[in-house]
Amino acid sequence: MKRIGVLTSGGDAPGMNAAIRAVVRKSIYNGLEAYGIYQGYSGLINGNIKQLELGSVGDIIHRGGTMLRSARCDEFKTKEGQQKGIEQLKKFGIDALVVIGGDGSFMGAKALTEQGFPCIGVPATIDNDISGTQFTIGFDTALNTVLDSIDRIRDTATSHERTFIIEVMGRDAGDIALWAGLAGGAETILVPEEKYDMDNIVERLQSGQKRGKKHSIIIVAEGVMSATDFAKELKNSIDIETRVSVLGHIQRGGTPTGFDRVLASRLGARAVELLMDGKGGRTVGIEKDKIIDNDIISVIGQPRTFSADMYDLSQILSI
Ligand code: ATP
Repeated sequence: MKRIGVLTSGGDAPGMNAAIRAVVRKSIYNGLEAYGIYQGYSGLINGNIKQLELGSVGDIIHRGGTMLRSARCDEFKTKEGQQKGIEQLKKFGIDALVVIGGDGSFMGAKALTEQGFPCIGVPATIDNDISGTQFTIGFDTALNTVLDSIDRIRDTATSHERTFIIEVMGRDAGDIALWAGLAGGAETILVPEEKYDMDNIVERLQSGQKRGKKHSIIIVAEGVMSATDFAKELKNSIDIETRVSVLGHIQRGGTPTGFDRVLASRLGARAVELLMDGKGGRTVGIEKDKIIDNDIISVIGQPRTFSADMYDLSQILSI
């Protein structure tokens, strides 16, 4: 093997740059050439490909987003689109590919591997919704961004004695809501993995009021419903003044945390090692601080284990 390609696909996540840097530098360290594919699978089909040197990935480890840009590309879901991609890879003499992205991006990597082109998937999404890894690149940064917002909103909630309902991202996963809610001391956390009980939520608000509590923070994961809809539902059950805050895309950007940079560096480097060992069709991940790898087929579309223990703890600590 002589040349490794790398692309980022799907939603961007802080730490993707650190992963690109790791793939490029680990490849060059081992005497290989590294090629960057710009704009995800769309750039692959169109041959938007350039060789990357050590310096090409300098000064990016601390930056959010992705220097290779990202894209969603429906054409790549077709056999014809995938064949066009393989032709471009062959044209540039690229022997193997590292795909940095989420579950959808892994489907593309799986399709290429099945057609004889070895690919490794590196999990990067703020949602932390990929199986085969305890954490995805970008989750820790998003968690801390949300936490910072909760802390700020708490100041206002306390000053004005109000209940705030904060909507956070996560798609169908509740990890951002759960971790940020627990770390931010939220009174109530709504996640898609656990059914909520409106009577219980009202009871908690009322018992808080009785003991003199003047404000509350409720975190709603976007996979449950919108914060506005939840505010309406709550209003039907209890007469309290609420304010809604939808954090939106601020959760996707920003300087990656130290944890995300280290994770991205380790996962990116391991992806290159696997390809050098002649292994394709795998994903890398972290479990109990060990870097692991899994068959991509066993990862795609599989639900991650939700931490019910943490959810229970959040309920206990927010009485
Ligand atoms: P995120 O969860 O952050 O949005 P993602 O990787 O899951 O990231 P998707 O939009 O689902 O994001 O997928 C990214 C791209 O992967 C798609 O635009 C498409 O090009 C490719 N892709 C998705 N599904 C398939 C598939 N079944 N076969 C081939 N390629 C696919």
